Amino acid sequence: TLSDRLTSALQNLRGKGKLTDADIDATAREIRIALLEADVALPVVREFIAQIKQRAKGAEVSGALNPAQQVIKIVNEELVAILGGETRRLNLAKNPPTVIMLAGLQGSGKTTLAGKLALWLKKQGHAPLLVACDLQRPNAVTQLQVVGERAGVPTFAPEPGNGVGDPVDVARRGIEEAKHAQHDVMIVDTAGRLGVDEELMRQAANIRDAVRPDETLFVVDAMIGQDAVNTAEAFRDGVGFSGVVLTKLDGDARGGAALSVRQVTGQPILFASNGEKLEDFDTFHPDRMASRILGMGDLLTLIEQAEQAFDQDQAEKAAAKLGTGQLTLEDFLEQMLAVRKMGPIGNLLGMLPGAGQMKDQLAQVDDKQLDRLQAIIRGMTPAERADPKMINGSRRARIAAGSGVAVREVNDLVNRFFEARKMMQQMAGRFGFGGGSATKS
Ligand code: GDP
Ligand code: MG
Repeated sequence: TLSDRLTSALQNLRGKGKLTDADIDATAREIRIALLEADVALPVVREFIAQIKQRAKGAEVSGALNPAQQVIKIVNEELVAILGGETRRLNLAKNPPTVIMLAGLQGSGKTTLAGKLALWLKKQGHAPLLVACDLQRPNAVTQLQVVGERAGVPTFAPEPGNGVGDPVDVARRGIEEAKHAQHDVMIVDTAGRLGVDEELMRQAANIRDAVRPDETLFVVDAMIGQDAVNTAEAFRDGVGFSGVVLTKLDGDARGGAALSVRQVTGQPILFASNGEKLEDFDTFHPDRMASRILGMGDLLTLIEQAEQAFDQDQAEKAAAKLGTGQLTLEDFLEQMLAVRKMGPIGNLLGMLPGAGQMKDQLAQVDDKQLDRLQAIIRGMTPAERADPKMINGSRRARIAAGSGVAVREVNDLVNRFFEARKMMQQMAGRFGFGGGSATKS
């Protein structure tokens, strides 16, 4: 698996301080194989890898991750961005009915999708109508009616006994029916062939011209892998589409079709289908697909954990400095300002191990008080800020007068500072990272 191969790549690269071209090339080779194994089309792989290399070469060296991990992180981020960068909601028409047309090869899952989409829309308060424009296969209309019934949504179909019927005519009359029966969305099911052919494209284009869809969804079976690119291009050129639906993701498809179709057509993937039941359907999640394509959810979790551990390491170093007892009023002010800048106090202090008590104390400081504290500290001489013990009675009076507060407030601040400093030293002692004896480096 990719995970295994990358693990050995990681072995080779471990301990290096920066991302060299060789590191990037080695990791890129493994990623390339992973993408091909996930059935991403070759030209798409090439373009993607080139992009990744470029970004990796400009990347800053991370303290948290080794070079291979860093490249993987970049790959994952780029994948997620490409798969979901422009994910958007279904376009609904300003003047209902919204027309959604489904297009795709036979067996791609259009009719099933019609039912899924209808149920999904119904749950959101819409009143969809299914329109049966697949008159090619003898039981296609019945199949749509069956899924419609299961979704609790009516189906508009040509009257039986009329012979073969004209799908374009049915589509047109479907709009009238939707308006008449006050359906705000209509979903047009169309015929597909096993392979791309001109007659199919012409028929789909004619239906498109008759109903002028707000959305044309290209439905593609995720299992078809490499072929997805050719099919997508044919439908893009023959009918045009505004969004993609991936089906059969419950199979063992590695998801490469998603990346290929997205990359080649530039159209967003709106939905994913993952089963035969009407409920097996969801909006598309780029992050899940990215980790499916890379096949290394575990590795991505590890990378995340490494980064978190690194953050904690930094926090401990900061705490160690505070624990040396060298904390000055200047630092204190800086801390308070940092707290204000960072928003909720808890977030910042949560990073310091054992900072519970300190948190309570700072939580009592509101913005207005912070302004006054700042004024007081600014009113001190640099020597006073560096060594608050020297702030005696007459200095306090001078500071109070200079910053426009009562002497009592200066007293409060100085006392609070000494308390905080004591607390930090205690914490540092308790957690063993104070007094310059920080263990991690
Ligand atoms: P159409 O020819 O494009 O209308 O495709 P259908 O909707 O008739 O689906 C073809 C077959 O694929 C049917 O047997 C469906 O039950 C099945 N199918 C459709 N979507 C999915 C899916 O997401 N997962 C699985 N496992 N089967 C699906
Ligand atoms: Mg069908």
